[in-house]
Amino acid sequence: MLRQRPFLVEALTAAGLIAVPFVLPYLGFTPATVNRILVWGLFGIGFDILFGFTGLLSFGQSAFFGTGGMVAAYLLTVLDYPDVFSAVFVGMIAAAVVGYLVGLIALRRTGIYFAMITVAIAEVFYFVEFNPLAAYTGGENGLPGVPTPTLHLGFTTLKFNTDKSLYIVLAVCYFVGMVVALRIVRSPVGAVLRAIRDNPLRAAAVGHNIHSYKLTSFVIAAAYAGFAGGLLGIMQGFMPPDAFTFDTSGQLVIQTAIGGTGALFGPLVGATVWLYLSDFLQTTLHLGATWKLVLGVVFVLLVCFLRHGIIGGIYDIYRLATGGSAAKAKAGDGTPAPAMTAEEERSATHAALAEAPAAMPMAARRRTGDEFVGPILEATALTKRYGGLLANSDIDFSVKRGERRGIIGPNGAGKTTFFKILTCEIEPTSGRIVFDGRDITGMSVTDVCQLGLTKSYQVNQLFARLTVRENLTISALAELRGKFRLDMFRSVPKIRGLAEQVEHTLALVDLKDRADVPVAALAYGEKRRLEVGLALASSPSLLLLDEPLAGMSPQERVEMVKLLKSISRGRTMIIIDHDMDSLFELVERVTVLQEGRVLVEGTPDEIKGNAAVQEAYLGGVVAA
Ligand code: ATP
Repeated sequence: MLRQRPFLVEALTAAGLIAVPFVLPYLGFTPATVNRILVWGLFGIGFDILFGFTGLLSFGQSAFFGTGGMVAAYLLTVLDYPDVFSAVFVGMIAAAVVGYLVGLIALRRTGIYFAMITVAIAEVFYFVEFNPLAAYTGGENGLPGVPTPTLHLGFTTLKFNTDKSLYIVLAVCYFVGMVVALRIVRSPVGAVLRAIRDNPLRAAAVGHNIHSYKLTSFVIAAAYAGFAGGLLGIMQGFMPPDAFTFDTSGQLVIQTAIGGTGALFGPLVGATVWLYLSDFLQTTLHLGATWKLVLGVVFVLLVCFLRHGIIGGIYDIYRLATGGSAAKAKAGDGTPAPAMTAEEERSATHAALAEAPAAMPMAARRRTGDEFVGPILEATALTKRYGGLLANSDIDFSVKRGERRGIIGPNGAGKTTFFKILTCEIEPTSGRIVFDGRDITGMSVTDVCQLGLTKSYQVNQLFARLTVRENLTISALAELRGKFRLDMFRSVPKIRGLAEQVEHTLALVDLKDRADVPVAALAYGEKRRLEVGLALASSPSLLLLDEPLAGMSPQERVEMVKLLKSISRGRTMIIIDHDMDSLFELVERVTVLQEGRVLVEGTPDEIKGNAAVQEAYLGGVVAA
C-alpha cells in the first residue's frame, strides 16, 4: 500500500497529527504525554529503519539520543546560542557524525555480537557523560534551563512555551521526519536495506556493498535519535542525563516491538501504549514501583500474541476482513482464466525467447570499449586447503567466451568449493583467477559480481519477505546503480531501464504470472527458477549455476532444462549438477573433478565413455 499510493500515507499522517490534540484528551492523555509520545515516535523512526528495515538490532541508541540532546542543550544553555531550531539541527548532525564513527566499529560484527558492541558503546557514552565530560553535560544534574523555541515572522513572534503550543513544533518535526523516512524506504537504498535484512549474503553476492548500506542505515538512525534528543531537552526545559542510560535504549526496543517493526509508525504506536500505561498505572492506579512489573507482563503478552506488533496485528485483521482477496489477487489466483493452459504458455514463452535475438548482458555491454579476446575465465593452480583436507588441489581451468561448461564429480569432489573460489566467496590457499583479462584473486564477491561474474546457489538464497519482482529488482539495482549509491530520495520506479530489465528476467525464468507473489508462497520449482533469475537479473557475462536441478521433480527438471537452454544463448555458463543426462544435454564440454583434482575434461560423449570417470563414480565396479 505504501508504494501504490505514496501520498496517502503522508496525508493520513498529517490528518492524524492535526486530529490528535482534539481526540486524545478525551482518552485520558495529557498534553505532556502526547508530546513525549511524539519525541519517542520520532526517535523510533530512525530505529525502525535500522532494525525493521535493515535487520540490525541496536541496544545503543541512547548514545545518540543523549549526544544530540546534550550538544543542542549545551549550545542553548552554556553558549547562549540564539536559535533553538538550528541548535537542534547541530545536535542532530553531531549525533550522525558520532553514529558514523561508532558504526565503523560496531558493524565489523553481525548478529548478537553487533548488539553486544552497541550495548558496550552506549555504556561508554553513559560513563563519559557522567565523569570526564561532567563539566559540559552537568553530570548527574543534566543541563537545566533549555529554552523553548520562538519563531520570528517579522510582523510577529510566535512563542512555543506551553505543552499545547510545543505540540505544534513536535508534530511538524514528526511529520517532516516521517516524510523523509518514507522517501528513504521507498528509494533504491530502502530496497537494498530490506534485502540486507532478509539475506545479507545474497545482497552482497548480487553486487551491493552491504557494509556501506548498513553504515548508512546506522547513521540515519543516529541522526533521528540526535534530533529527538534535542527535542527532548526543549520539551522538558532541561536535558536529563538519563537520556544516555541503557533504560532509554531498552524502552525504545520494547516500544518498537509492541508497535511493530518495518512500518515506521510502530514506535509511535508502541510509545502511545507504553507511555499511556505508565502514566495510568502510576498516577491513576497509584501502583508505585509495581508499575514496571505490570508493564513487563503486558509487554510479554503483546509480543506473544501479536508477533508482528500492533501494526502487524491490524494488518492481519485487515487481510482477514477482506477475505484474503488482496492476497489472492496478489498471488495471481483471482486473475481471469488464461486462454492458454499453463503448459502452452510456458512453451510459448520458451519459443518466443528462442526466436528473439539473445540479449547481450549489460555488464558485457558496459565493457565493449576494452574488449578482451582471450578466455573469459582462466584459473591457474587453484588450491584450497581446510586444515589437513585438500578440497581443491592444483586445478587449472579455462572457459571460452560463449561456452557452456559442465562440472561433475562424486559427492565431496570439491565442486562447490571450486565455485565459491571462482566467485570470490572464499579465497584460495594458492593459485590465480583471471576473469575477462583481469586478475580477480582475493577480490570481494560484490566486486566480482559488478564485473559480470555471478552464480546461483545450490541451496536457494532468496529475499524471503519480498515478492518475486522485488527480488529481481534488488539484483537489477546493483547492476544499474553500482555497488553503492546514496540516492535516498529517488523513487525506485523512476530508475531508467529497471522495469525493462526486471520484466525481461521475469520472462526468462518464466515467472511473469507470479511476479507479485511473496517468495514464501512459491512452489519449490518456482523458487529454483527465481534463484537462477536473481543471478540473471544482474546481467552477468559469466553465469555459474550450482546444481540448478537439485531437489526437483522429474517434470520440474524437464522445465528447468528447457529454461536453461533458452537462457544460455549469448551467455557463458558453467553448470554443476549430479543429473548427468540433463547436464550432457545442456553443455558442450565437461570437466570432471575427483578428490579436489581435475580427473578429465572432454565433450559429453567423451566423458560418457571414459573408464576413469565410470570408475570415479562407481568405485571400480565398471572397471572390474
Ligand atoms: P557435493 O556434490 O556433495 O555438493 P562437492 O563436490 O560440492 O560435494 P564440496 O562441498 O566442495 O564438494 O566439498 C569438498 C570437500 O571439502 C568435502 O570433503 C567437504 O567436507 C570439505 N569442505 C567443504 N567446505 C568446508 C569447510 N568450510 N570447512 C572444512 N571442510 C570443508
